[in-house]
Amino acid sequence: MKKEHVYKFTCNSCGGHSLIVTHVWGTLAGTGSERWQEWGPLDDYHHWQYQFKEKIGKSEDDAVHRGDAGEFAEDDSSSEPEDYEINETETNRENDEYFVNCENCDREVEFGWSHPERRGLIMPVEYSDFNPSECWPDPKYSKAWRRKGWGRTKNAEPAERLSK
Ligand SMILES: [Zn+2]
Repeated sequence: MKKEHVYKFTCNSCGGHSLIVTHVWGTLAGTGSERWQEWGPLDDYHHWQYQFKEKIGKSEDDAVHRGDAGEFAEDDSSSEPEDYEINETETNRENDEYFVNCENCDREVEFGWSHPERRGLIMPVEYSDFNPSECWPDPKYSKAWRRKGWGRTKNAEPAERLSK
């Protein structure tokens, strides 16, 4: 018996076979908000495991508050961030973002989820077993998918309906 590995994914740009899932989220920490990301490989069975984690960039709020402590004569109140607008992100999972990219060339690959509200398994469009009628698009693709007639619609929220 021949045991040939059939790749679920072959990058049409670089020929790579691996995808990386990245999860980006924000937290409120002390005086400022932080952005974090974690990422790891997606396997042929649509499971993934985060293997790395890091903070993205520096908190801009920190920079603002740690300016020259001695000088308060300068009036730069017009450039201060509007705090009240960033107060509700702490546990708001809806602001999380997920990305799927080719491990080799970093090309973004569209994907959906096996369950609504970004639950279940990740189903990349370019996997050989991808079936658009069996998954829900990641929010950032939902418009594009609707145009293509992709995605499950049975459980669509009223707001998701076409506005025609
Ligand atoms: Zn690639």
